[in-house]
Amino acid sequence: MKAVSDLRADIGEILLTESQIQARVAELGAQVSIDYGGRSLTLVSVLKGSLPFMADLMRSIDRPLRIDLMEVSSYGGATTESSGLVRILKDLSSSIEGEDVLIVEDIIDTGLTLNYLVRYLRGKKPASLRICTLLDKPARRLVEIDVDYIGFTIPDQFVVGYGLDYGELYRNLRFVGVLRPEVYSSAG
Ligand code: 5GP
Repeated sequence: MKAVSDLRADIGEILLTESQIQARVAELGAQVSIDYGGRSLTLVSVLKGSLPFMADLMRSIDRPLRIDLMEVSSYGGATTESSGLVRILKDLSSSIEGEDVLIVEDIIDTGLTLNYLVRYLRGKKPASLRICTLLDKPARRLVEIDVDYIGFTIPDQFVVGYGLDYGELYRNLRFVGVLRPEVYSSAG
């Protein structure tokens, strides 16, 4: 069983340090607090990758808010490619009809998952629906999505840490980094 220090050794380049992430999340929370004025909002996060971002962002927002959690998985097996066919593993716990909803995502890659989610949530008739993502990888976008809040725009590299996994590991790293190629090839 690997210790966190071993997981750290699997990382080549660190793209975003813990302090960079914390500073940017605080800025995002302050912006959301301003934009929503006197309104309360509902944060809908998509498990599991968004968990640390959600936990930090919600504490940076100075407004009354509720949270809800969804879990989705893409059909198509164990690849890093999104198929756009999404299965809902965990649905919302409460109605969002008439609510101001902010989707909290870890990363937008092709956009297919979020595109599905936006259409699904719009069907539940929220008063408004906006999107906040920690990371954006625009190079691989297949569908156009209007993203309201973006933490960082990153190059087309597969990243892990701060919630993001490879084979369910690395989520507990405090930073976002790029896995060494040997990790992929040895997983064969
Ligand atoms: P999309 O449908 O936008 O292509 O895929 C979004 C999902 O794919 C994310 O929520 C995340 O689970 C996964 N994903 C996309 N890019 C990365 C990446 O660089 N690293 C990790 N760990 N997951 C990614």
